[in-house]
Amino acid sequence: MKKPSPARSELGLIEQIRRNFTQENKTVTLGIGDDCAILRPPSGCEVVVTTDFTLEGRHFRRDRHPPESVGHRCLARGLSDLAAMGATPMAAFLSLALPPTMLTEASGREWTERFFDGLRALSELHGVPLAGGDTAESPGGKAGLVLADIVLIGSTPKGQALRRSGASAGDALYVTGQLGGAAAELSTLLKRTGRVVNVKTTEGHPQLFPEPRLDVGEALLRRGLATACIDISDGLSTDLAHLCQASALCAEIEQAALPIHPLALKLGAESSLNAALNGGEDYELLFAAPTSLKLPSSLAGVPITRIGTLMPRRSGRPTMSLLTNDGSRKELKPGGWEHFSQAATKAKKRSR
Ligand code: ADP
Ligand code: MG
Repeated sequence: MKKPSPARSELGLIEQIRRNFTQENKTVTLGIGDDCAILRPPSGCEVVVTTDFTLEGRHFRRDRHPPESVGHRCLARGLSDLAAMGATPMAAFLSLALPPTMLTEASGREWTERFFDGLRALSELHGVPLAGGDTAESPGGKAGLVLADIVLIGSTPKGQALRRSGASAGDALYVTGQLGGAAAELSTLLKRTGRVVNVKTTEGHPQLFPEPRLDVGEALLRRGLATACIDISDGLSTDLAHLCQASALCAEIEQAALPIHPLALKLGAESSLNAALNGGEDYELLFAAPTSLKLPSSLAGVPITRIGTLMPRRSGRPTMSLLTNDGSRKELKPGGWEHFSQAATKAKKRSR
């Protein structure tokens, strides 16, 4: 069957989205096409909501990331937040601003179509309907940027959502999957000169096609395994600091236990450790569980690795420390991604 030609107007684009995202889902009573969508959460559940920007030049580069990857990552960011709460996705909403050329020029239309192909593939994989959104022309004419904001709505059994704050001293810390892969693949992408990479499969591309751990999050909640949970979007060191802060605890990580992604290992010892501790966008889960619970080595087919322990706060004890391979202990500072940090550093220098 011939593919319908890509949309050339706002209304055409919305109609194309509506036709392409007609998945059935018990919780969406009314999807795209009216002023609001209508959702019906499963009985006994409460609703969890998250929103995430995907901004050109900040979260992706049009000259590096293939359009399918941009669409995939846009949805993956929100799904990973739902996973961290142990939530089941109900629906996604996408506000999208596009430069005019994305609808008026053939290459732009192809980009837009491929962006939605990537988003749709992941939405189908997890059964998350796109139930609405907004579409606008971004300012700046031809030089305008692709700016997206996605809202994810999910449900959890009342009072049972996994939070960052529930851990106790003595709990063990675990991560899903492997760390540092997304940062390692990004460094390779940025080194490449020339065109956007062309990928044939989404597998084995932790930066371009991260896999949000929804099934693991749901299993942790259902089986009552985790006392606290967060997704690693900004880097292990930064997200662990959030969990420590919310649970009012300290943490010790064992370097030797870190499951470092093979792509990161190729960077050499020091850079691979840095990618695993501080590299962002892995979208793995970091969670705490009592040591009395015997955790399986994998959940929903994803490996689970114990990487450290939570301890009570004590004066003189750093919030996070790293037990290094040579047996010494050093303070671990949040070294992951933080918005406004470069501007803040510059301002600090200026004010000196
Ligand atoms: P309104 O002006 O009443 O806000 P719109 O014309 O913006 O309505 O949108 C019409 C329908 O299309 C709504 O159901 C809206 O949720 C949906 N929609 C608009 N843009 C998008 C998008 N980028 N992705 C998904 N749905 C969209
Ligand atoms: Mg309206």
